[in-house]
Amino acid sequence: MLGKWLRCSQCTLFNGRRDIVPGRGNLYGWLLIVGQAPGVEEELGSRPFIGSAGKLLRRCAVEAGLDLRGSFITNAVLCYPPANRPPSSRELMCCSARLHHTLETVGQVVLCLGRVAADACLGRAWRWNQIVQKDKKLWLPTKHPSWYLKREEKEIGGLVKVLKAVAHMCPPWEGANVDMVV
Ligand code: SF4
Repeated sequence: MLGKWLRCSQCTLFNGRRDIVPGRGNLYGWLLIVGQAPGVEEELGSRPFIGSAGKLLRRCAVEAGLDLRGSFITNAVLCYPPANRPPSSRELMCCSARLHHTLETVGQVVLCLGRVAADACLGRAWRWNQIVQKDKKLWLPTKHPSWYLKREEKEIGGLVKVLKAVAHMCPPWEGANVDMVV
């Protein structure tokens, strides 16, 4: 599956990309986290959520008691949109078969980070921080960590609160540490 996407040229994000940034983590865990798109740091490191937004997400997960060893993390598109712009609807559509395969096969709880991810996962049928039951999973759309980076420290408690709700839905991971790339 990954080999197909490593060579993917289905949308304009193929032009000038240094590397795709596949999803990464525990394919057998409770939680699937979906973001918008890789940033420049993620493209350079070929790993999702290793930049400042990812660092904030991990810090808040620790504060919330959310065990990310039981999570897999990916983005609505696998290639970096130049200048960190949002992916276009055409680019999202081109990458949607890959995303929906992941949505169908990974996790019982899906945390959608940001509007682009929530729309890609749920269409328009969602509201911020409201749990959606669909396809035998629980979906929770919430603001992207990068949104909190632009705000005061005291507002970051909002992200911790959401992650605490996710922690209630996802028991601590008791299996071996798993780090898979898809
Ligand atoms: S964003 Fe998705 S569809 Fe577009 S080139 Fe990258 S892997 Fe292919």
